[in-house]
Amino acid sequence: MAIEELLKTISKNHPKADHDMVRLAFDLAREAHSSRKRANGEFCYEHNLAVARILADIKADLPAIIAGLLHDLPEDTECSLKDIEVDFGPEICSLVEGIGKLGSLKYRGLDRYAENLRNMFVAMAEDLRVVIIKFADRLHNMESLDALPEKKKNRIAHETMEIYVPIANRLGLGKLKGKLEDNSFRYTQPEEYQWISDLIKSELEKKKEYLRRVKEQTGYILSRNNIADFRIQGRTKDLYSLYKKLQRYDNDINRVYDIAALRVIVKDLSQCYSCLGLLHSQWRPLKGRIKDYIAQPKPNGYQSLHTTVFTPEKEVVEFQIRTEQMHAEAEFGVAAHWYYKEAGRSMPINSKQTAWVKELVKWQKNIEDDRKYLESLRLDVFQNRIFVFTPKGDVINLPEGSTPIDFAYHVHSEIGNTCTGSLVNNQIAPLSTELKSGDVVKIITDKNRKGPNPDWVNMARTNNARGKIRGFMKRMQ
Ligand code: MN
Repeated sequence: MAIEELLKTISKNHPKADHDMVRLAFDLAREAHSSRKRANGEFCYEHNLAVARILADIKADLPAIIAGLLHDLPEDTECSLKDIEVDFGPEICSLVEGIGKLGSLKYRGLDRYAENLRNMFVAMAEDLRVVIIKFADRLHNMESLDALPEKKKNRIAHETMEIYVPIANRLGLGKLKGKLEDNSFRYTQPEEYQWISDLIKSELEKKKEYLRRVKEQTGYILSRNNIADFRIQGRTKDLYSLYKKLQRYDNDINRVYDIAALRVIVKDLSQCYSCLGLLHSQWRPLKGRIKDYIAQPKPNGYQSLHTTVFTPEKEVVEFQIRTEQMHAEAEFGVAAHWYYKEAGRSMPINSKQTAWVKELVKWQKNIEDDRKYLESLRLDVFQNRIFVFTPKGDVINLPEGSTPIDFAYHVHSEIGNTCTGSLVNNQIAPLSTELKSGDVVKIITDKNRKGPNPDWVNMARTNNARGKIRGFMKRMQ
């Protein structure tokens, strides 16, 4: 039974965990949901189990996993928060309560959207686990989206991309972020998604054999040089992240070296550098590709050494070298903190991540105005990004400096190609207008228009819009 698999994962991360509590929570969820089913025909309680399994996989602690099993009971069943408190105590009860309070993060216009984000950050400041459970819930909803009507699928996928992904990224929840992003990508850009999945498949097929050889050789080199307790993993780039990278490199797959990389996980910091030296003495590194994210972590706290080397077969391979702890942080971010605490090892919660949340909460206390609130968010989580709205209240996330041209192409290429003008906050505005967070943008189109004006390339800020305009021009020649 599936509950047994959940217990197995839990035992791996938390050897002393109380299985009875987990079983009790599962039984309660199954009983409370009874035979109710979801749109895809699955029993409702199977969703609860799936959420708990995602949480166990990212090494969340036991109360979070149990709260995952119970997360929707007060809202969707006869089982009340009081019942949960009686059976499971105040900690789990307050997690479940927090998830309820968080509500659904739908963006129905500016007011609701800002309010939802605000709820999210208040919940974060009180207990980050609430947000992590919410993310696990969203991930399973994304994975079981297929049965829903087209329009709803699209709305949920955009919402995930615009709200959940940036926050997951900022919290360093790397694995969750990648999965949320790829599951949204599948619905927001189905054709591009298919193209990238096929591309990855064929590239991996080509590289499989030499990666296996390089991996074997690496293991040999490290053992021979007295590096003990290491492990080497192959890692494949997430789809959306590859898609974005390809856009930056004129869609030239030969310029992307990290589709498949080898990850070396070692015992301590000094071994990271020894390992880097050993690899370089064996294979020549590519100039400009050695990155020390240990000395200079990425803004979300990511740490590792990266290097790309030439192998004798004239192939290039990217290596990522890190300690177990850096690995756990890169994959699970704040979620792994509790795991390390329980395991009795010290893993200081990434101070950058918590300081950021605290700062934000301080900010929002002083900000009543929704527009200013969005503005303040922009300063941090959504660094250099703006949020603008469609007339229906859908939110569109664009880089700073974007214009109605970028907006139009972000919504759909056809809208871009047939665009004749724009309204910003109900006022006619030139297509070169620099948009600000909170603007409501309406694109005026004329289906007889024969395509974009070449000058638009200079008015567009995003690669997406520029690429599509140039692509159109090329096809016309
Ligand atoms: Mn749910």
